[in-house]
Amino acid sequence: MDFDLPEELKMLRETVRRFVEKEVIPLEREFRPEGEEMPERFLRPLQEKARALGLWLLEVPEEYGGAGLGLLARCVIAEELSRSVAVPYRGNEIFGPEVRPLLFYCNEEQKERFLFPVLRGEKRVCFAQTEPDAGSDPASMRTRATQRGDYFALDGRKRFISGAGRSDFAQVMAVTDPQKGARGGITCFMVDMKSPGVLLERQWPTMMGDAPWEIVFQDVHVPAANVVGNLGEGFSLGQKWITEGRIQGHGARPLGMAQRSLDMMIDYAHNRVTFGRPLAERQAIQFMVADSAMELHLARLMLYECAWRHDRGEDVRDLSYMVKIVSVETASRVVDRSIQVHGGIGLTKELPLEWWYRQLRSLRITEGATEVLRWRLARNLMTARKPQV
Ligand SMILES: Cc1cc2nc3c(=O)[nH]c(=O)nc-3n(C[C@H](O)[C@H](O)[C@H](O)COP(=O)(O)OP(=O)(O)OC[C@H]3O[C@@H](n4cnc5c(N)ncnc54)[C@H](O)[C@@H]3O)c2cc1C
Repeated sequence: MDFDLPEELKMLRETVRRFVEKEVIPLEREFRPEGEEMPERFLRPLQEKARALGLWLLEVPEEYGGAGLGLLARCVIAEELSRSVAVPYRGNEIFGPEVRPLLFYCNEEQKERFLFPVLRGEKRVCFAQTEPDAGSDPASMRTRATQRGDYFALDGRKRFISGAGRSDFAQVMAVTDPQKGARGGITCFMVDMKSPGVLLERQWPTMMGDAPWEIVFQDVHVPAANVVGNLGEGFSLGQKWITEGRIQGHGARPLGMAQRSLDMMIDYAHNRVTFGRPLAERQAIQFMVADSAMELHLARLMLYECAWRHDRGEDVRDLSYMVKIVSVETASRVVDRSIQVHGGIGLTKELPLEWWYRQLRSLRITEGATEVLRWRLARNLMTARKPQV
């Protein structure tokens, strides 16, 4: 068993680390996302520098001009990048346009209309699955798509859709066969956001600064040629992608936040003197440092193992549940301790800690609430060992 990252991945990590230290962290004084995109005047120069370093379209397969990195490499990079609060949590485009993986399931004709324009940065796509009465349980969605000849009539409502207001297309999950439901009755459609009957009804501002959208679809005519994959296949396509996204977005990124919080905690403890001695000499503070380092190490081992197994083609769904729960809960504790060690200054917006604190709170709910993931994990474990009667 080799616990070391491959040499080329260590080099890549070093390149990204230097990029983040030199180019991204200094921007924090000027820009904090609060749900916004990074302004063009910061984003464009960063993109040019990233591209020159070969840090471009990292998740896109090589056949489409991307770097085609595996999940382990992407996790290592995500960890480094999330050390800076200048990077928007959703819709970050520093290493190239955001390409939603479902686009790779488009057929050749659809790739020309949807995938390639997104890769060129000309069009944007959002992902619309959640509904007012179907979040953790998307299989109970009600948005319907009824076939009428060469088009589908789409009716329903989607809630909390990130980036909908700036998107040209939405990847909408809709029921095409209520009898089959999630087992072959939910289809993914590419919906032009300018189609008659698409209404961006309102935004939902959140504690993280994000303001996802509520979209209403009223008799929207979606060409049958806009079905992604096969009819009824949408739900399973979405679930595949969500597993990867959970590992990278909710497993790796919290650890980057936690690592910098721990580094900051240690630096501050050395420098801050109270009652005549540096905080670093107080056992109460040392224990917070030690606990954070231990927990972070555990979470990172778990994340890397999960991503490595995924890259070997193994089914990591259960592991992905563990990774998300452990990473998010670990990072929440580490950031909380770092705020405690920093005292009053830790609560101010001068430091990145309060932003991570809010962001991490949201990750216990989005893309799988931790209770739901624990329940699924337990259900799978218990089903596997059900007594034979
Ligand atoms: C900022 C933001 C951006 C988002 N972006 C998108 C997007 O781009 N596209 C998209 O489709 N969706 C998006 N979402 C939706 C998000 O994925 C859902 O909010 C999330 O899945 C939770 O669904 P819900 O809010 O309906 O909570 P519910 O399903 O109502 O659950 C509420 C709570 O009940 C508990 N719970 C639920 N089921 C169980 C159970 N079986 N056992 C025990 N406890 C349970 C959990 O504690 C959970 O937090 C976004 C949400 C936010 C806040």
